[in-house]
Amino acid sequence: MIIDRFGRPLRSLRISVTDRCNMRCRYCMPEEKYTWLPRGSILSFEELDRLAGIFLGLGVDKLRLTGGEPLLRADLPVLVARLAARAGLQDLALTTNGILLAPQAEALRRAGLRRVTISLDTLRPERMLAFARSPGHADVLAGIRAAREAGFTGTKLNAVVIRGYNDDELVDLVEFARQEGAEMRFIEYMDVGGANQWTGGAVVSRREMLARLAAHYGGPAEPLADNAGSWAPAERFRLPDGTVVGIIASTTEPFCRTCDRARLTADGHFLLCLYADTGLDLRPPLRDGASDAEIAALLRAAWQAREDRGAEQRAHAPDRGALYQLATLRADPRKEMHTRGG
Ligand code: SAM
Ligand code: SF4
Ligand code: SF4
Repeated sequence: MIIDRFGRPLRSLRISVTDRCNMRCRYCMPEEKYTWLPRGSILSFEELDRLAGIFLGLGVDKLRLTGGEPLLRADLPVLVARLAARAGLQDLALTTNGILLAPQAEALRRAGLRRVTISLDTLRPERMLAFARSPGHADVLAGIRAAREAGFTGTKLNAVVIRGYNDDELVDLVEFARQEGAEMRFIEYMDVGGANQWTGGAVVSRREMLARLAAHYGGPAEPLADNAGSWAPAERFRLPDGTVVGIIASTTEPFCRTCDRARLTADGHFLLCLYADTGLDLRPPLRDGASDAEIAALLRAAWQAREDRGAEQRAHAPDRGALYQLATLRADPRKEMHTRGG
């Protein structure tokens, strides 16, 4: 296991398999047009699998496939099967907006995917149409059901809570998730790349979410004992009726101190933090004949020098507004949230 300058191990890797998306969530992709990564630069399944193997050799034991929308990548179950066959893997998960999940859930499960997280910000199709420019709400719901029918357990439903958009749906979402046998997780709105319309006023804090849930359920949500010492970003709470919900307070209570997560963009940039300015381009060594040991040495050196704690630093930024303006994002698409994966 390798550790960074703050003693944080490298244990988890989020692999973005594509920067493309079939939705346009306003907190992630608000623009009409985007600069996409050139197709020739996107890593093949062989390259992704090889890199994953090198990361596993360095102590990573959790992989999450994300994007963009990962299910837009053709034949994703083929990649899943390759990764699932790797020794030493404790967890292999997927984060998806769910639109294309129903027809693929069974194949993904059969290929060895262990868990899915499906984004569901609203139960109202007209809100999704207006906010994410997608008419696919029914497809998302079908995806959630298909995941259950395919045998996935421990499914999480993620909602980014935005004031004036979906903050009146907290209870409805908790109830819906419970009926579907899933766990609802609320995410504070983050000022990550892509969120160029971010304002502090639109953030609904964990404290406010808990207060709203307490008002409805007739008592406070109690933190679960296993939050203590956990390296997971979500804190989990038990509501008075026994339902468990997770909250990811990445904006008001950043958890950089326990961050063991690295990211890989679809074109092979290794990022030490969601907020990192730049990444280490692994494509040249990968395509120019470097050995696994040479690539491992690059990764080890980068992680050992890691001092990133982006969200904590942002929490103390004076006059906090959006992290990037449009021109900066256009000049470097790797700063976008949909390119680095969530
Ligand atoms: N397209 C897939 C999806 O939406 O689930 C996977 C990629 S998406 C970038 C991963 C996660 O990032 C989603 O759960 C999304 O809600 C979250 N996300 C995107 N922009 C965000 C923001 N500004 N603040 C907080 N979470 C955000
Ligand atoms: Fe929405 Fe995910 Fe697409 Fe971003 S990548 S626009 S969060 S569906
Ligand atoms: Fe980890 Fe960076 Fe997020 Fe902090 S901001 S939790 S260091 S990815």
